[in-house]
Amino acid sequence: MAVDKPELAPEWHTLGTEEVLRRLEVAPDQGLTDDQVESRLAQHGRNELEEGQTRGPLAILLDQFKETMVIVLIVAAVISGALGEVKDTVAILIIVILNAILGFTQEYRAEQAMAALKKLSNPVVKVRRGGSVQKVASDQLVPGDVILLEAGDSVPADARLIDAANLRLQEAALTGESTPVDKDVVGAFAPDAPIGDRHNMVFAGTAVTIGRGSAVVVETGMRTQLGHIAHMIQSAEDIKTPLQKRMQRLGLALAVVALVIVAVVFALGLLRGEEIGPLILTSVAMAVAVVPEGLPAVVTIALALGAQRMLARKALIRKLPAVETLGSVTTICSDKTGTLTENRMTVVLLDVAGQTQSLEEALRDDMPFLSAADVSPTNGGAPGQATNALLLAASALANDAVLQADDQTPGDFETIGDPTEGALVVAAARRGLWKNELDRIFPRIAEAPFTSERKLMSTIHRVPLNEPGTVVNPYLRRLMEAEGTPYIAITKGAPDQLLDISSRVWVDEAFAPLDDGWRQRIQEANARLAKDGLRVLGVAVRPLNDAPQPGKAEAVERDLAIVGLIGMIDPPRQEVKDAVATCRTAGIRPVMITGDHPLTATRIAADLGISENGRVLTGQELTAMTDSDLDRVVGEVNVFARVSPEHKLRIVNALQRQGQVSAMTGDGVNDAPALRQADIGVAMGITGTDVSKEAADMVLLDDNFATIVNAVAEGRVIYDNVRKFIRYTLTSNMGEIVALLVAPFLGMPIPLTALQILWVNLVTDGLPGLALGVEPAEPNTMKRRPYAVNESVFGRGMAQQILVIGLIMGAVSLAVGYWAW
Ligand code: ADP
Ligand code: MG
Repeated sequence: MAVDKPELAPEWHTLGTEEVLRRLEVAPDQGLTDDQVESRLAQHGRNELEEGQTRGPLAILLDQFKETMVIVLIVAAVISGALGEVKDTVAILIIVILNAILGFTQEYRAEQAMAALKKLSNPVVKVRRGGSVQKVASDQLVPGDVILLEAGDSVPADARLIDAANLRLQEAALTGESTPVDKDVVGAFAPDAPIGDRHNMVFAGTAVTIGRGSAVVVETGMRTQLGHIAHMIQSAEDIKTPLQKRMQRLGLALAVVALVIVAVVFALGLLRGEEIGPLILTSVAMAVAVVPEGLPAVVTIALALGAQRMLARKALIRKLPAVETLGSVTTICSDKTGTLTENRMTVVLLDVAGQTQSLEEALRDDMPFLSAADVSPTNGGAPGQATNALLLAASALANDAVLQADDQTPGDFETIGDPTEGALVVAAARRGLWKNELDRIFPRIAEAPFTSERKLMSTIHRVPLNEPGTVVNPYLRRLMEAEGTPYIAITKGAPDQLLDISSRVWVDEAFAPLDDGWRQRIQEANARLAKDGLRVLGVAVRPLNDAPQPGKAEAVERDLAIVGLIGMIDPPRQEVKDAVATCRTAGIRPVMITGDHPLTATRIAADLGISENGRVLTGQELTAMTDSDLDRVVGEVNVFARVSPEHKLRIVNALQRQGQVSAMTGDGVNDAPALRQADIGVAMGITGTDVSKEAADMVLLDDNFATIVNAVAEGRVIYDNVRKFIRYTLTSNMGEIVALLVAPFLGMPIPLTALQILWVNLVTDGLPGLALGVEPAEPNTMKRRPYAVNESVFGRGMAQQILVIGLIMGAVSLAVGYWAW
């Protein structure tokens, strides 16, 4: 058995699917059994790439003794030992050890927090095991697992395709080729075929851009193609955030200052004829006093623990710098559907042949499934009714949502898949048109998937025209008989898009030309529905004589006959209104971005308080604008409608040119560039694709706009706390320096011994400082404008405060010391 001899890894792309499945001992419709999974997991290990070394507890502990300041202290201990000051030596060593313990516990906590975050970022994979589809963490995959892939998924392991529909993958990470590659189940390739040409395989580290398929895992972990190159590109470089870098620079600058001061004190001491031994010790202690040793550590800890607090509030940080950037965000660009709204879609209005009816009204006139024999022109009810049924049936056919109803009782339907499509399936079911029955009677033979660019989706079905006994809804049968073709194409999508490719309407049970009158009526109906905040979808059909060429389903999208429009509500999230209000007081501008109609967008934006000036820009207008046109308005437009993902990138770029710090949400494959470009890329935890999550700095576990605002609040608190810590330690260091420097001029001996300085720094500086690092929010955190990213940490009067208070502290200490002396 091949899996038992990993060293003889077969060249999977050279084998037929059957052979691969046989060697891996798996049936594609069943998947592996739990026993198989367990034994293979034991044999192959987890499906993960070996990381560059992460620091274990011992390494963290040892690192504590590598800090320059600690080394200085140890030298000091040795010197005092040599001078015969045993008490001092012991005391300094105790302080060094205490310091190390303190540093260790904090850093260990931070490291653990980051490790936990990383674990959460592990993607889940849809796997068929024991006959059912489950979601499994990608590191639990084993060879032989049958995985299901769809647009936006990242491929978790190397796998051989079992089936594929319109499947295309982005393999740049592996091959450098940036245009997506078509994949198919096709037979076998030559052993030496380049990776990019192995079209029957999918590889770890690549991502599905469109289509769907299933595949059987053949290699996992370091044995994947990605694993082979991971060996070469592994680097354990850890990235510092801007704040951490600034703190490092600050520490360095202070160290230089310390050296100068020490030199001065040393020189003064020598001039005054003090003993050289104690003088060295004091100088060392002073150096320690000036440099805020805890500073970089406090920043790291504040960031890591802040990320943990954000997680408790449903914001998963993927890149640590995001924690501090969040505090400076000035613009939050958010998708409407699902982030500002609940994504609980419900069909409420049907518009056919120029008449609008609520779904409830339409249901009252219900007409159940009839057998073909029952159809007579008299039982159709009102003409609008007939078309209503056709509209719903068609919308449920051109649809990938799955209805979950054990008993067919209307009311409590659950659906899996896109909520927009789910709403359509439910509405049809309430009308007695069950999707599974429709799918059975009208088998789908081809499809052109929905994308946010096209805003359309089409399916092509076989029509059971001459199959007596087939139970067909009479309205559908009438449509079928109108042209008598063996196939029918159904397209649903944004009505404006649909009007561009339609030439007919279905009215009074027949096709009529789409003249200007009809065009205007449909546009008016679309606008009327959208104005009420409804999401509107149009449905059109086209009888076909021939099935489309494989992969050419999009070509049928012309000469369509419009059947009607469907309006659905998607209620705004309750908590978003408050979150928007918080943004306003916090000087942050919320911006809505949606693929929906501008009127729908404006209405929802108004309801949420997002659109103050009522200005809205459409994707079409955006495309027509030059960058400088866009720059002029991007700061004022709060609503962008009918946009595609590529517009998001332009919006982010324009905002950045205006000096704005922007957060941008996204969930699809094509949102990834905008998420990467944004200062804070935000992906959706529930509806988001793997690709978008990988590009993001932060993932919203609850897909909620309010969570972004909470994360911003945390980000501000963290920055505030770091500033509090800096102010606190530097002020007291300042006091020490003043006392130490001035005392000799007053003729006093050195006022603080080395030990005393160390004690002050550890007990009255270090410990309270750590507490400051995790302070709760100030009441005004979200009531002031965001701080500029490039603002100095000493900004807003902090430098003066440190100087003045430090001087006072030093003066008071000196005065008291002088009095006592
Ligand atoms: P959003 O960014 O608000 O989610 P989309 O780009 O997903 O917007 O949708 C834009 C428009 O495309 C919708 O107003 C609707 O008319 C249409 N649409 C949305 N989902 C589907 C779908 N699954 N099939 C067909 N059309 C759709
Ligand atoms: Mg959408």
